[in-house]
Amino acid sequence: MCYAIPGRVKAFEGKYITVDYFGEERRAVNELSGLALGDYVYAQGGFVITKVSAREAELTLETWKDLFFELQAIDEKSVAISPWSGKKYEHVRGFMDRILAGGKITREETRYLLGVTSSGEKEFLFSAANYLRQQHHKNSCCVHGIIEISNTCVEGCHYCGISSFHKALVRYRMSKDEILEAVRSAVEDHGFKALVLQSAEDPGRSVDELVDIITEIKQRFGVLIFISFGEIGLQGLERLYAAGARGLLLRFETSNPGLYAKFHPGSSWDERIAHIKKANELGYLIVTGSLIGLPGQTLDDLARDIELAGELNVEMLSMGPFLPHPATPLAHMPSPSVEDVAQVLAVARFTLDPDVKILVTTGFETLSLEARRIGLMAGANSVMLNVTPVDKRALYNIYPGRAHQDDTIDAQIQGTIKMLEGLGRAPTDLSVGQDDN
Ligand code: SAM
Repeated sequence: MCYAIPGRVKAFEGKYITVDYFGEERRAVNELSGLALGDYVYAQGGFVITKVSAREAELTLETWKDLFFELQAIDEKSVAISPWSGKKYEHVRGFMDRILAGGKITREETRYLLGVTSSGEKEFLFSAANYLRQQHHKNSCCVHGIIEISNTCVEGCHYCGISSFHKALVRYRMSKDEILEAVRSAVEDHGFKALVLQSAEDPGRSVDELVDIITEIKQRFGVLIFISFGEIGLQGLERLYAAGARGLLLRFETSNPGLYAKFHPGSSWDERIAHIKKANELGYLIVTGSLIGLPGQTLDDLARDIELAGELNVEMLSMGPFLPHPATPLAHMPSPSVEDVAQVLAVARFTLDPDVKILVTTGFETLSLEARRIGLMAGANSVMLNVTPVDKRALYNIYPGRAHQDDTIDAQIQGTIKMLEGLGRAPTDLSVGQDDN
């Protein structure tokens, strides 16, 4: 099963190519040499990642041909629950109409939506967010894989179960060979086209080593690589981009510097933001966001979190619930409700640029077995599967009872495909190319 549909090169325009998918055209940045008109390629996140033979592409397209349109029809039907009937909820309806006409909502309006409490208005908000998602992204849903390469950490984040607070945790650091094998298996055995490599703040692995690993992945595999190694330094970001990484997953955790200081003593919020800004300047696709339900967080903070993600040119929003971990100072604090998390995702769909992807995080899936369906029906359109070797997963113990911790990659893929098909979503990435400026 492939996590992208091959497209056919239709036109060249500087560093961009136009790719055709069953009649839909998308632009992508091309960094491959020797591409010709009519070639087939896989693109992810707006980047061409690999060329594919005509035979392989045609076989894949044959399996997709009918399904592609069938799924689109199911999705269209799912949003046809007439958001227009929302006369009672004139604020939400008015915001939706404005967005559909190309306008934006203000921070006060974002704050209003976050504060909606009546169940009828919330239901309408979720349907409207789903409608906005469908209008811009159709039924495409990004399916990325994540490999957690080390849980060895020097930081003392007050909520994190792999922070230095967790003295009893057995620490691991995957070797280069183990990482390359995990990547090979994800790409060649399972068809992933985009992978996140993530680790704790692990000074035991140098930027030189990371550069070496990314360079080899880039040489050997056609896959879009996101890095998520924390604050590796602005030069580290530059070097890893040069080695071939094209995405950065780094949450700012909270837009409130005071809250950040409280839960990250000794760390600088400004430095974290500087990393995200630098990565954006370098051309990385930015995956960022914050925790929902941090103790002391207000709705104004959450409104600002969404706004800040937009200012940081977020490509994919990662906002998920705070989940208490028993080995941390926040062990006894409550997590937010499933509905609260869904509401934040829906409001983000209203507030951010329409082309932003919104992730259903593993944290949300840990909060509820139904999170994927709930999130995807409230404006989200991305999921992430855990492709870390199973024997390491329990040790990447950010919070207890992580969803899919013991599921094989095959089981996760089958479950995801089934769930997506039920909703009429296609596990594809037909991203719009980035602008020149
Ligand atoms: N070192 C990298 C970094 O600093 O971004 C990546 C690893 S860090 C463990 C990944 C994410 O886990 C963080 O951005 C944080 O939001 C999330 N996280 C940690 N503890 C959590 C908790 N108790 N509940 C929910 N999310 C948590």
